[in-house]
Parts: sequence; structure tokens; C-alpha cells
Amino acid sequence: MSKYLRARWLLPIDRSPIENGWLETEAGRIVRIGSGRAPADADDFGDVALLPGLVNAHTHVELSWLEGQVPPAASMHEWITAIVRTRRAGVPGGRDTEIAAAQKAVASMVASGTAVVGDISNTLITPPLFADAGLSGVVFHELLGFSAPDPQGAVREAWARIDETRKTLGSEHAGTPGNLREPRGTPLSFSVVAHAPYSVSPALFQAIVARAGRTPLAIHLAESPEELEFLRTGHGPIRRTLETLGVWTDRWRVPNCDPVQYVTDLGYLQPGTLVAHAVHVTDDGLERLRRAKAVIVTCPRSNLWVGAGPPRLAHFYAARVPVAVGTDSLASSPTLSVFDELTEMRRLAPEVSAATLLESATRVGADALGLGRDYGTLSPGKRAVLTRVALPPAGASDVEEYLVSGVPALDITPLRP
Ligand SMILES: [Zn+2]
Repeated sequence: MSKYLRARWLLPIDRSPIENGWLETEAGRIVRIGSGRAPADADDFGDVALLPGLVNAHTHVELSWLEGQVPPAASMHEWITAIVRTRRAGVPGGRDTEIAAAQKAVASMVASGTAVVGDISNTLITPPLFADAGLSGVVFHELLGFSAPDPQGAVREAWARIDETRKTLGSEHAGTPGNLREPRGTPLSFSVVAHAPYSVSPALFQAIVARAGRTPLAIHLAESPEELEFLRTGHGPIRRTLETLGVWTDRWRVPNCDPVQYVTDLGYLQPGTLVAHAVHVTDDGLERLRRAKAVIVTCPRSNLWVGAGPPRLAHFYAARVPVAVGTDSLASSPTLSVFDELTEMRRLAPEVSAATLLESATRVGADALGLGRDYGTLSPGKRAVLTRVALPPAGASDVEEYLVSGVPALDITPLRP
């Protein structure tokens, strides 16, 4: 049975906004879109913008209990020292607090228009929360181990934990992208990934690559000047932190190169690899990311919070590297709202068009997570998972600009016709 929705503005993303647009849905999928009079009685939403459910391509929902616990820092080293200390002290209230905070964070993501998530998880507490909330996406089960004694074993065990998680989720949540058993299922896929060049040994990187599936890899890369210094010289604050943690090993050979080259040489930079941050990537590094068909996931609010500095957003786009949007975690960002992240992106890169920023937060993110068949644009065949944004009474002269300029949280409604 078809349903029709009408709105002042439809933002299909793969084409220009449609004024006075309508959208036909059937069984949870988009059938047609058009403008003018709808072919049948339509649910008229009035002065709103309808756009695809947003994609938060890099977050750590399991860290939500750290909200407000580690203040903004002047340097990433200072921030990491503080967060390591806080995490080592343990979660006050234990597992229940951790899960309750993550649950609240997931609810806030849905309420702020997010439909698809790329979640970094060490503990795998988050997949059931996403499934319950109807969020789709990829859970990147992340490994750390600068001197891991048995890299192959660590990767094997990580995949075994994923298999266990899949079983507990049950078949209704275990769909794989492009192979959905039923239209309302929430596809979650999984990948084992490396944290960063300074926290993962070359052997562990290679073991992860050797067992990588079709789901993309992810990594934190070129986030701070300290990371660049460590890969060039083997010294600096990161070396001292590894020594303090007791994981430094003299077996590690200084690669004397930049982070992009380092992960390229390890075989980790593959088509589709999601590179979080890239704050300190050079123009040459951007060109290598583009050639490798990698995707940058920018998280500017987090970059500023942890003292890494602002990302060179306009350069990312000028270099024609696909750019997706992430919020990172509540440990380093005030909210998990993609609209809030877009507002910061607009502030940092006034020269990038609002349409391009919106595409980053929808189509690019969905494609990067392997979910472009179902999400990212308002196109026939895709899931009718929409975000409705109420427009101001005076209207919005430029609806795309309006959507990247600080949408009030209360004006956002997730919609699944
Ligand atoms: Zn992160």
C-alpha cells in the first residue's frame, strides 16, 4: 500500500532540492519522488525539509560514560594522558553505567536524525543497542597492541567475539548490506580494525588485513603532530606514553615516513578504508589517499577538543578525497549530532558549498560504510528512512545553507513512513 508525503522542501542529495516535493513510499522503501501535486492523497508536512537519514561514520558509543569527564586539552598528548588515567580508574557504577550511558547516546543519535552509524568498539556492547534502536551500520571491532605477542591469535579471537555477537543479535538483525531478508531488518555488519599507527604493531596490522572481509577497514590516522613525530623519529610524547604503559618494544623499527605512507606500506590502506581525522595529512598525502580510494571521516569538533587542531576541510574537498562526517565520542565532543558537526564544518570551511557538506553527511557516509544501496539519498529503491527538519516561520531562503547553520535539536524528527 503506497503512502505519499509532501513537504516544502525535499533534499534528494543526488540532485538539487525540490520545492513543494512529494515522495511515494511502499513497504518501507522509496518508490517515486516528484514535485507539484502528488498523484494521490498525501500526508502534508508543511514547512519542513525532508532529507535522508544522516550517517555518523565515526563514533565510539561505548565511551559515552566519559561525557564531560575529560576537558578540552591544549595538545593531544595532554588529552590522551588524561583519558588513559580516567579509563584506567574504571567506570563508576560499572557495566550498568556504561550501558545506560551508551543507550542514552544511541537515543540522542536517533533523535538528531542519524540513521546509519560507523561505530568503533573495543567491547562490543553497542551492537544490541543499535539493533534495538533500528540503527544500521558497521561496528568496527577495534584492536590495540603495540607489542601484541600473538597477532594472529588476537585477530582470530576478535572475529570469534563478532560471531558470538551476531548469534546473540539473532537472524533478524544479522542481515548483510545488499542481502536483506526483510525490509525492516536493521543491517549491521562487522569488521576487525586497527586503532592507530602508534598503538598497533606492524604484525598486528598485517594479521588484521590478512583476515579482513568485505566490510571496510577503519583507522585513526594523522590525527596529531605527535603521531607524525613518532613515525619520523621514534621519539616524542607518544614514545614516552608507550614506555609509561609498559608496551614500548625496541623491536619496533622507526619507519621514518608519514602516516599515509606507513599504512600504505603495511597494506592497510585499501579502497574504502575509512581514515578518521587526517588533520595533519599533507597535500601529497591527500593525493595518495585519493589514489588509494580511501575515505576521510572528519570529526572537527573532536579535533579541536583534543588539541589536534582544525582539519583542513577545504583541502580535503579540493583534493577530491571522499569526505564523510563523524562526531567521534562524547569523551571529546559535546553531542553525537551530525547536524552539530555540520555546523562546525560550515564554520571551518565557508568556501565549501552547503550541498557538498550535506552530501558528506548522507551519501558519502552511506557509500563508505557499504550501505549505499539502502541509504544516503532519496532515490527509488532505497529505504524510506528520513529526517524531517522544521523550517523557521519566515522560511529558509537557502534550505541547504539553513541545514548546515545550526538546526535547533527540537526541530529534528526521525521518520520511517
Ligand atoms: Zn575515534
